[in-house]
Amino acid sequence: MMLKDVLAAKGLRVVTVSAKSSVADAIRKMQAEKVGAVLVPDAEGCPVGIFTERDVVRLYADGDRDFDSLAVEARMTCSIVLGKLSMPVDEALGLMTERRFRHLPVVEDGKLLGLVSIGDLVKVKLEETAQEAQALRAYINA
Ligand code: AMP
Repeated sequence: MMLKDVLAAKGLRVVTVSAKSSVADAIRKMQAEKVGAVLVPDAEGCPVGIFTERDVVRLYADGDRDFDSLAVEARMTCSIVLGKLSMPVDEALGLMTERRFRHLPVVEDGKLLGLVSIGDLVKVKLEETAQEAQALRAYINA
């Protein structure tokens, strides 16, 4: 199973904000869209930053609480780790676990195609495991 299969099942929706958006607007968008991360694309649509719930927690803990006047571009993560359509789900899970983040934008030829969360990937693995268990039970009982 590869990331292209995950995107085919969950859809290509990616929630974005502009770099100049305030952190408050980004938080409202995450809440309205029920997601834990927003991407910041450049003029060509290529992601140049990611801003997640974890960044909000960090800002608050650091005492940076004027979310209305703080721009997302000042606090987003710019060195984004990207996935490709052909990346196996196990490799993506390993990467996210090792690097301690839960969101992986999928990009092909500089074009943003979607975003998978660790929850999307765990769901796929659970379904795979259930199917394997069912196949094994059918084999044993045949
Ligand atoms: P998360 O666990 O996804 O909420 O993110 C934890 C931290 O890693 C936050 O500072 C994010 O901005 C950052 N982050 C999330 N996803 C990525 C990614 N794909 N590449 C680099 N940093 C990321």
